[in-house]
Amino acid sequence: MLYPELVVTENRRQFVRLEPADPAMDSPAPLFGLDANALAARMGSAGEPAWRGGQLAEAMYRQRLTDINEITTLPKPLRQRLAGEGWQVGRPRIAQVFQSVDGTERYLVEGQGAGQEGQTVETVWMPEGDDGETGDGSEPDETGGPEKDGPEKTWRRATICVSSQVGCAVNCQFCFTAKLGLQRNLSAGEIAGQVIAVFARHGVEVGRDRVNLVFMGMGEPFLNYDNFMGAVRLLVDEVGLSPQRMTVSTSGIVPGIERFAEEPANLRPKLAISLNAPNDEIREQIMPINRKWPIEAVMDAVRLVKLRPRERVTFEYVLLGGVTDRAEHAAEAARLVRRTGLPAKVNLIAWNPGPGIPYTMPLPEAVEAFRANLAGEGIPTYLRRPRGRDIYAACGQLKRTVEG
Ligand code: SF4
Repeated sequence: MLYPELVVTENRRQFVRLEPADPAMDSPAPLFGLDANALAARMGSAGEPAWRGGQLAEAMYRQRLTDINEITTLPKPLRQRLAGEGWQVGRPRIAQVFQSVDGTERYLVEGQGAGQEGQTVETVWMPEGDDGETGDGSEPDETGGPEKDGPEKTWRRATICVSSQVGCAVNCQFCFTAKLGLQRNLSAGEIAGQVIAVFARHGVEVGRDRVNLVFMGMGEPFLNYDNFMGAVRLLVDEVGLSPQRMTVSTSGIVPGIERFAEEPANLRPKLAISLNAPNDEIREQIMPINRKWPIEAVMDAVRLVKLRPRERVTFEYVLLGGVTDRAEHAAEAARLVRRTGLPAKVNLIAWNPGPGIPYTMPLPEAVEAFRANLAGEGIPTYLRRPRGRDIYAACGQLKRTVEG
């Protein structure tokens, strides 16, 4: 076996499309993903009072129920009628689980509508976090909920890495997901549904457990902006999470950052820029998007974001052996970050190998020297612990790998 620690715990179904292949065949469309107002309108169209929409929202997003017949706040005859008319919750569900020796879990997530092949997305659960949140000014927490259908609760805090697209069009040269190309955008319900499905599996209690969300899975969130922010709105308004427990990472989509800067503080997650190189020349080689939006243009857009007190912008920096990890790169990266004038921190990620990608891991001494170099320049710098490498769950490794 290629990865002897790998344990596949649930069924082997995969490659099932997350949204109905033909809406006409799945009518009415799944409810999951609609906010309380839209659910009220849906109930109104069924001849029911609008406040029943609030009951549906409570049941789907707080109680995490997945079957109309389970929603006992609705009268039984109404449940039976709605179910008979084809109403369905339609929350994405975890179809397959890969467990790492370090406690990380990687999921293939699919919708309940079923459909075409090749369209699952990946979500990662990292108990005890991945250290990526350290030093970013997070407040003491919230997060969680009632029902639990997974393993015993042994964690005190956790991070969930969420996908925003199936595949990705950005084509970062070091990234395994890029090999898929862009297959499609996820809907707001499909993005938020990953979070609720993982909350249900681990019995996360909103308001008590300390869980961070990072929108750093498959895809570029700012190339699916409306659905990404729609998911954030659902998670804030309907689930009760704080946007200060969420971080979105972008490769530097300038129009997206400009829109993001306009979002109200009570809805805007924290921002991370996937920098990965100390100058345009190297960045262009490893991130072709840099030709369209070079570093200075990205930084100009980031400066538009009105940071909250104690909030910092995160710069993610993937260390590629011999390519971005040298002492001169560290010195240049430090100058670059200081020049932005922003309260910032740097997260270093030692590159995770993936099949068919022509880079090498940095040497441990180079990683430590790089970290010390930036820290010595007064920049808060953290080395993210690699999580779930054995199950292809680490940064840049998400590609629906199913080897066991
Ligand atoms: S690193 Fe992110 S933006 Fe770049 S190709 Fe991979 S998923 Fe897309």
